[in-house]
Amino acid sequence: MCFVEYIYMINFILLKQIVDISFRRRKNVKNLYTLIQFNSNSVIVMERIMMKVQRSRYSAYNLPFLSDSLRNPNFFIHSLSSSPSYYSSFTDHRVLHRVLQRCKVSMDFKTVGKTHARIIVLGYAAYPSLVASLISTYATCRKFHISHQVLCYITSHVSVLFKMNIIIENLVKVGECDIAKKLFGKMSVRDVVTWNTLIGGYVKNSRFLDALRIFKGMLNAKVEPDGFTFASVITGCARLGALRNAKWVHALMVEKRIELNYILSAALIDMYAKCGRIDVSKQVFEDVKRDHVSVWNAMINGLASHGLALDATVVFSRMELDNVLPDYVTFIGILAACSHAGLVEEGRKYFDMMHNRFLIQPQLEHYGTMVDLLGRSGFLEDAYAMIKAMPMEPDVVIWRALLSACRTHRKKELGEIAIAKISRVESGDFVLLSNMYCSLNNWSSAERVRQMMKKGGVHKKRGKSWIELGDSIHQFKAADQSHAEMKAIYRVLEGLIQRAKLEGFTPLTDLVLMDVSEEEKEENLSFHSEKLALAYGVLKSSPGTKIRIFKNLRICQDCHNWMKILSRILQREIIVRDRIRFHQFEGGFCSCGDYW
Ligand SMILES: [Zn+2]
Ligand SMILES: [Zn+2]
Repeated sequence: MCFVEYIYMINFILLKQIVDISFRRRKNVKNLYTLIQFNSNSVIVMERIMMKVQRSRYSAYNLPFLSDSLRNPNFFIHSLSSSPSYYSSFTDHRVLHRVLQRCKVSMDFKTVGKTHARIIVLGYAAYPSLVASLISTYATCRKFHISHQVLCYITSHVSVLFKMNIIIENLVKVGECDIAKKLFGKMSVRDVVTWNTLIGGYVKNSRFLDALRIFKGMLNAKVEPDGFTFASVITGCARLGALRNAKWVHALMVEKRIELNYILSAALIDMYAKCGRIDVSKQVFEDVKRDHVSVWNAMINGLASHGLALDATVVFSRMELDNVLPDYVTFIGILAACSHAGLVEEGRKYFDMMHNRFLIQPQLEHYGTMVDLLGRSGFLEDAYAMIKAMPMEPDVVIWRALLSACRTHRKKELGEIAIAKISRVESGDFVLLSNMYCSLNNWSSAERVRQMMKKGGVHKKRGKSWIELGDSIHQFKAADQSHAEMKAIYRVLEGLIQRAKLEGFTPLTDLVLMDVSEEEKEENLSFHSEKLALAYGVLKSSPGTKIRIFKNLRICQDCHNWMKILSRILQREIIVRDRIRFHQFEGGFCSCGDYW
């Protein structure tokens, strides 16, 4: 009997033993190759091999037989067709991708190895989305050496540029910007798409400063940016509110004669609005082609965030004259504008118009804004009726909006209903629950919990504030100690707090209030990030100059009161852009009229 016939006959246990022995004597790996080649249970053999490889810390790709299998991507498909049906569902690359994603959540390293084996056996070893998923999953499981090996293999074996670009795209999609950057660094050839993918990835992952840095690197490398590059960079500047950078990028775009499409036009309008220059936004809006709804949406949203509700309604009526149909985003903007200005009747009118005239089904966001608008203005029963009439499950944000309105208007009974709903939604630790489901292999439940976390905004988002001074942007977290000039900053901050107290400022220590809003929950209100940013601004700028602060969450009531008093004491204009809108503090008052 020849070796091949013999292999056909052997059972699983024997197969595993052969793998083990071959590994012990590394000279016999050739036999292993034959083993996989001719055995219908190749998946099992491969799993065994992968396990060995991982344990021995050898790169899977260094083994010659694995490399051979990579060169013949479809080689094993045939042999798999005769394998047990249990495996057949795992032959689809989308399924493999999902399995890896789940391993990431549960940190199930063993299954990662098995799945890696399948990926090789099925000839997907150079399949961009799976490669990205593998690299990221190994890194999540803290198996950095294997993650690195896969990365090295890819850079030396995949020579097609577009494939590499897709791998980078997939890496940034799952949030692995740093690994993507590493791969980017190893690439010998890059094109404008490679740069765009990396820059866009950093922006999508809210790493705007890094995105700007890469963009500058691109210019230094003499790669010509295109419209896609600018769309990402403009978005980055907008989110940072970095006016100086924004102006520079815009000027560069004009210099390079980049043609304006609706995406770029909308991005420019949004950028200037978010940088506090709504006047420039308006100017851009008047100058560009306005045949796409996105351009109008950007303008309406910008006006809403500046509390210019009437201007927003004017823009809305101009849409009709220009024959541009509003979409659901337009209504989010116009309802938010009404909400910021307390225009209840206008708000109701637009809400009705949306589904009666434009046949747009209201989404969660629209209901949220309406509940907020009605609740703040004291129409609590109407707000509650709207929640009850919603065709979908109301989320935590909506209940919180109602609760906060109940607090303002002292409606205890309704407030209790809202609290009951919130505590029901938030009962238990979501992360704990999700991990528990994962360990029980109950993936659908784990996924549901994660979706709930996402929808309800339960995921822990840390408050950050930043300030642009000169060419650089300084960022602060609550109770931050990381800044080089921290000592001086805290000294200034404490001085400012004392002065505010002398002027009658009392810190809000109502913890329940903190609990029902979405603001950051810190033990010490005095060191909220926007306070640190303001102290730094005072420290670094000359008296009388405007201070602009940006924040990723909503400003809390305590900071809001404090900023008002300080604008009077310091006789300075302080502008804070929070997640919702702009606050312009001057002479002890805020442009929002304490309504945000
Ligand atoms: Zn605060
Ligand atoms: Zn305000």
